[in-house]
Amino acid sequence: MTATVPDEAPTPVASINTASGNPRITREGKARPRLDDIESKNRCDCHRMGTDLTNRAWAQSVGPTSMADLTWSSMSHVMPSRMAALSAHHFINGEWVAGTGPQHDVVDPATEQTIARYADATANEIERAIVAANRAQREWWSMSALDRAGALHEIASRMLDLAPETGHFLTVEMGKPFRESNWEGGASASAFRYYAELARNDQGRVTGPAIAGQLQMVMKEPLGTVVSIVPFNFPMLLAGWQAAAALAAGNAVIIKPSELTSMTLLAWMSAFEALPVGLVQVLTGGAEVGAALVAHQDTHAIAFTGSVKAAQAVAAAASQRFKPTLIEASGNDAFIVMPSADVEVAARGAAFAAFLNCGQVCTSAERFYVHTDVHDAFVAELANQARALRVGSGLDRVDIGPMASQRERTRVESIVARAVKQGATIVAGGRRPPQHTKGWFYEPTVITTTPDAEIMHGECFGPLAPICRVTGLDEAIALANDSELGLGANIYTNDLAEAFRAVNEIETGIVWVNTPLNDNDAVPFGGRKFTGSGRELGAEGLEQFRRSKMVMISPTAEADPEWFPYPDGDAFPGAR
Ligand code: NAD
Repeated sequence: MTATVPDEAPTPVASINTASGNPRITREGKARPRLDDIESKNRCDCHRMGTDLTNRAWAQSVGPTSMADLTWSSMSHVMPSRMAALSAHHFINGEWVAGTGPQHDVVDPATEQTIARYADATANEIERAIVAANRAQREWWSMSALDRAGALHEIASRMLDLAPETGHFLTVEMGKPFRESNWEGGASASAFRYYAELARNDQGRVTGPAIAGQLQMVMKEPLGTVVSIVPFNFPMLLAGWQAAAALAAGNAVIIKPSELTSMTLLAWMSAFEALPVGLVQVLTGGAEVGAALVAHQDTHAIAFTGSVKAAQAVAAAASQRFKPTLIEASGNDAFIVMPSADVEVAARGAAFAAFLNCGQVCTSAERFYVHTDVHDAFVAELANQARALRVGSGLDRVDIGPMASQRERTRVESIVARAVKQGATIVAGGRRPPQHTKGWFYEPTVITTTPDAEIMHGECFGPLAPICRVTGLDEAIALANDSELGLGANIYTNDLAEAFRAVNEIETGIVWVNTPLNDNDAVPFGGRKFTGSGRELGAEGLEQFRRSKMVMISPTAEADPEWFPYPDGDAFPGAR
């Protein structure tokens, strides 16, 4: 499949007002303000991760060092050799090292061609990474807060510069359109900047002393080495959110990517040159590699994003050593449409919320509850929207790429088949697009059904929009809450009272009123019920990766009248 986009270098994008899947892109272009002044003032004197030699050796072996040197068509030529150079590698102690464990194919979901291999990290490789992480963490925490902030700002700038390249890796590895991948490459840059400043602003608090004249305080310390286990759908964004907070809090991070996005996160490591060697590493492989990292005595906290089943296994294993655990698991977000809403806008918002990234977003709208007064008009409009979406290779001019793997498409096909068997009606889509004989494509699909249907319960994680008719807000909220998952929920309404009720009564970690899928680095993101525990982003996200230490300091060492021996009268009531 050949790229038909213009022969020009893609523009790096900034990630202001990012969303977990919403490429609300603020294009900075050439005018993007650089932090050169701050960075040269703040530049940390830590040595450069990966060594210049290592980075340069990789780049020279495969082509130009900077994406600024590349046009779109030359990038398409260079990328296969860049991919080959990282094939079956890990990123350990600042170097891309050839893996020695069993290898597996990395397959482009748009072409079904094998483009690289990933290796399972061995026990020896895991051990080396953990030793390097703990050494680097001590070095990182010994630096000044100002220097750490400077390094985090440098990472943010570099991520934006590298976004076209890492985005290209992501599109050919998991399928999403290049526009979304290019955005994702730089999407966590604003989180790095936010945490760079937040972490040096606050390292604990001084309390009113319980003993006069003392300094009594809470100090905030890092946890040590954080294991970040990430899924395939937003690998750079999600690893970035976790790494930004964990690093800002003073930790080292070992990332275990999904088997479907190993190459992307290996390439992304170029953005972290400003850190001490070994502070951020990538070990590829499957669940066993993740489980070994979780169980290891020298890792200290787990940040997991993925399915409920894997989350439960990770949380159970981490609890054996009482490791702090952040769990971000599955969602099945409700999308309510009330009669006061503009149906056309609501349907456009719904198409974006349901079909973005081929429906593979944790906060995808998974089940629609639409008021009977606007139900038919909404269904017709959403079906029109779905039919108009262009499905194809993420390197072409498309809105929707393939699903990330054959297994995922088969799973979605069986959900649709069961829904139809249970009486659902397919209004649009519901099949593989006939024009694509290769690739794991599936058409954006609109289905009408009833609230008790299986498709309305559980997570579809595909391009499906199942819609039910409801008679009022009470019913819609009750159905939205009839779920074991609790990540997000949407409502479209122009009635303020309805909006307030939805915000107060829906049992999720996020409620969006007329603004689907958006988020904000400064506001905590996460869910409740089986979706998990803990929060990313915001001050709460930083707190996730630090522990408190109680400190009491007396300016002089004086004997305390409360010490032994107790006066007889106090110690032995009644004694003379
Ligand atoms: P997955 O659970 O299959 O895999 C996620 C990661 O966990 C992978 O790196 C995998 O190798 C690893 N893993 C699996 N079992 C493990 C174990 N026992 N021990 C250690 N590691 C293990 O998920 P996926 O299919 O890659 O991603 C899709 C899921 O992620 C969806 O359910 C989606 O809702 C969820 N998700 C949630 C959020 C959120 O913020 N709540 C964000 C994105 C995705």
